[in-house]
Amino acid sequence: MNLKDHIREVPDFPKPGILFYDISTLLAHPDAWQVAMGRIAKAVAPRAPDVLAGIESRGFLVAAPLALKLGLGFVMVRKKGKLPGKTVRHEYALEYGTDTVEIQEGAIEPGQRVVILDDLLATGGTLNAAADLLTKVGANVVGAACLIELTFLKGRERTAIPVDSLIAYD
Ligand code: AMP
Repeated sequence: MNLKDHIREVPDFPKPGILFYDISTLLAHPDAWQVAMGRIAKAVAPRAPDVLAGIESRGFLVAAPLALKLGLGFVMVRKKGKLPGKTVRHEYALEYGTDTVEIQEGAIEPGQRVVILDDLLATGGTLNAAADLLTKVGANVVGAACLIELTFLKGRERTAIPVDSLIAYD
């Protein structure tokens, strides 16, 4: 099955000049979604993670069902101010300004092997921010995986973490 057939390309969203790769159409197609989950499970399982981390918000849609499939726990990496209780934050640079990601204290045991999941890898900035946060709380980040990779943005070359992706646009 060609999973690309199930990704909707939306020009000029969320702003002019951006071609948005919409996974809603993949999620809505049960057979294609099963295939995608099977393929990502095959890529992630050999990294032998103890826990999966999903990046808000579409990364949750990938990480949570994958965690169930692999019999693992799932933790959320969120934008700041969304998680109750004590949290650990990491601020990172954007093209203009900064942004902050957050995780609940104690969500990861020091030394646990973690694979990070998101819907799409573009420049790699989001992935690196999540990896830095997880490393800060003592995780051993052993890999990352996503449904879609924009290979022309070379995000893979900007991260030290090995990345698996199912669908490439170049
Ligand atoms: P980056 O930090 O540049 O690798 O961007 C990746 C993050 O932004 C992911 O969480 C994606 O959900 C989102 N993203 C970036 N570019 C796109 C795009 N063209 N279509 C859909 N999502 C995108």
